[in-house]
Amino acid sequence: MTTKYLFFTGGVVSSVGKGVTAAAMGLLLKERGFNVAVQKLDPYINVDPGTMSPYQHGEVYVLDDGAETDLDLGHYERFIDNRLTRVSNFTTGQVYAETIAKERRGDFLGGTIQVIPHITNEIKRRIGLAAKETGAEIMILEVGGTVGDIESQPFLEALRQLRNEVGRENCLFVHVTWLPTIGATGEIKTKPTQHSVAALRSIGISPNIIIARADQDVDKGLCEKIALFCDVEKDSVIPMKTADVLYEVPLLLEKLGVGELVLGKLGLEAKRKPNMRPWKKLVDDVRKPKPTVKVALVGKYVELQDAYMSVREALKHAALANGVEVEINWVHSADLEKDKGWDIVKKSDAVLVPGGFGSRGIEGKVMAARFARENKVPYLGLCLGMQVMCIDFARHVLDLEEANSSEFDRGTEHPVIDLMIDQRSITDMGGTMRLGLYPCLLQKGTKAATVYGVAKVDERHRHRFEFNNSYRADFEKRGMIFSGLSPDNRLVEIVELADHPYMVASQFHPEFLSRPMRPHPLFVGLLKAAKERAKK
Ligand code: GLN
Repeated sequence: MTTKYLFFTGGVVSSVGKGVTAAAMGLLLKERGFNVAVQKLDPYINVDPGTMSPYQHGEVYVLDDGAETDLDLGHYERFIDNRLTRVSNFTTGQVYAETIAKERRGDFLGGTIQVIPHITNEIKRRIGLAAKETGAEIMILEVGGTVGDIESQPFLEALRQLRNEVGRENCLFVHVTWLPTIGATGEIKTKPTQHSVAALRSIGISPNIIIARADQDVDKGLCEKIALFCDVEKDSVIPMKTADVLYEVPLLLEKLGVGELVLGKLGLEAKRKPNMRPWKKLVDDVRKPKPTVKVALVGKYVELQDAYMSVREALKHAALANGVEVEINWVHSADLEKDKGWDIVKKSDAVLVPGGFGSRGIEGKVMAARFARENKVPYLGLCLGMQVMCIDFARHVLDLEEANSSEFDRGTEHPVIDLMIDQRSITDMGGTMRLGLYPCLLQKGTKAATVYGVAKVDERHRHRFEFNNSYRADFEKRGMIFSGLSPDNRLVEIVELADHPYMVASQFHPEFLSRPMRPHPLFVGLLKAAKERAKK
């Protein structure tokens, strides 16, 4: 079968759920028996989001092969439940880097290198690569940003060209826009949508489907108006009110008949009836009243919750598995250092310290780990969260007052967390960490082995520092258990405390592998312990 293409563009403003909509659409098509692949095209010039502050970009989502990618890939994996690879995300930075390298090699000798055709060709080559590598019957391509951005123009131009190369009948443009409401009257406005479609048409693309996002119900009349002004068919304007439950989005699209609409326009027929029952049950379960457990999430990017997108989702998945509602209370670790925010930590049933980089707020995280240890509050540490748990243990149990990670104190007398040997000679910052899937052997009889219920797991990593093995024996003597180790025994991957209901932390990022239907065992374990504590 020839590959069919579904292009997602965004209009009016960003952050209206284009990624979630694309992911949900992928699910509807997968449920109809198609091999669906997704690809995110990011117009910024960074080679990947790995070097960007989470404040700029939200979470960096890591794939099995170690690609550091856009957080929308997390949505894709959680909805479509596939394992993506490096080809699923590329940026202007990668496109230019490749083109310039080719120019230096002399691949274009004699030619003047231009946006059209050289840059657009490279964009199309990468799309083709993904189609080939995944063997997709339907490729979903999401262009980051908003139509009208200078950066996204070459991408849109490449898609326009691609449409002619693969045939119009094999392509659909889905434009996701935002309908604002005007304060005093609460009137919903379609004008920005009209303008964004006009901008799209000025570069030769007419959308086939418009997904009109809004915070309110969008009535039929408004959809017809959008259809008229934007030159799309009436049934192709899909009203999408903001869903209170993320995982309801595919159900809403399904209810509106979008799955069939898309297949019809692509000249395809469903290979099987979609089974949305598990999703329906999931959403029903989310809505059922349940006892609440409170989790204090002690981080440094808490003002922008997107920075912890996968952590938040993993907590929600695990809460459902435990039949509880999770209330996430965001605590700024730097506040704890100034004696603020402790009321939130103290009334929580669990503490979670996620990953992070740099010294700001680090002492507050160590304090949070200490609090959880001393008060036997369930604790889950993710990457940096494991490292601070070890720092607290060294300082306050082993009495190594100076203990630290050499990331925060280069000359520390007790670098209980230290740079990995293979990291020592690396000077480049981009893409040079220990990244992606690595195996971990679970030690029998430990909490980690119990929650996982298997002897070996593969988990995704993103770090430069590790537990310093010269302290292993001392830690063990005082009740720290190294419950997960690399197969060669060299790297500590999971630690836990013996004398504690649940103080477990991993050097890897379990949140990236949590799925709505397959919550991650380490998170399930945390919320189980939290639930027990809440009962008391
Ligand atoms: N900064 C720490 C390291 O590089 C932790 C990284 C993380 O939490 N992802 O090892």
